[in-house]
Parts: sequence; structure tokens; C-alpha cells
Amino acid sequence: MKCPYCNHKDSDVLETRDNEDLSVTRRRRTCPKCEKRFTTYERVETVPLIVIKRDGRREPFDREKLRMGIYRASGKTTLKPDDVSQIVDEVERDLIGAADTEFTSKKIGELVAKRLKKLDKIAYIRFASVFRRFVDIDDLEKEVQKLL
Ligand SMILES: [Zn+2]
Repeated sequence: MKCPYCNHKDSDVLETRDNEDLSVTRRRRTCPKCEKRFTTYERVETVPLIVIKRDGRREPFDREKLRMGIYRASGKTTLKPDDVSQIVDEVERDLIGAADTEFTSKKIGELVAKRLKKLDKIAYIRFASVFRRFVDIDDLEKEVQKLL
């Protein structure tokens, strides 16, 4: 890293420190030529996740929006807010881990439905009946039959 004072093209690192969530590394540096000190910050480049909506519009993936969507669709009484946050965390992790950075809202709905089903059958059925297009309808009917 070049020196911001004299433009010398090298510097020595005196100290390296990560912030708490390890997303930023701060380095204290010194220039061997002019001996001034300066700080550099190194950040992880975040991958923007894009949602392709049913009408073809694209918008950035919004955790909060997904959280509220699940919460509303699945019925407020059966799911704990922590459970919903956990589903959102897991879905987001799946998206970040995927090879693509763009996902249809259908795909995201399917990921949510899959997790809801494991966690809370009632919430799954409510979610699935609101968003029928996200689930296999036969599967939904089977689950409803089991409950009746
Ligand atoms: Zn310098």
C-alpha cells in the first residue's frame, strides 16, 4: 500500500486488528521513507442478492421484507419471531452459498416453505395456502389431510 503523504510505493504494517464481526480489518501502517503513519481499512465485498419478482422486476433481497412476509403469511400465533428470523437466516445463507446471485421470488418462497414445513406444520399450511405457487399442491393437500 503506497504512502498517502509521499507516495512511496511501500509501507510496513505495524498493527492489524479485525472488528468484532470480522467484516473489517484495520491496519496501522508506517512509511519507511517519510516515517508518517496512516491507517487502511479492508472490507469484504458483499455480494448483492437480487430477487426477480413475478412481473419480472428485480429488486435487492431484503431480509426484513422476507421476515414480515413469512410472519404475516404463516399466521402470527403459531410462529415465534425467533423462528422466523432463523428461517430468514437460513434462506439467506442458502442464497449466498448458491452459484447464482439472482433468484426468483418463487425459488425463495420454496426455500421458506421447505423450512416452515420442518418447523411448524400449521404455519407451513397457512403459508402454503397464501402462496400456493411456492409449493407442490399435492404435498400441501397431503399435509392438510394428516392434520384433519
Ligand atoms: Zn511516506
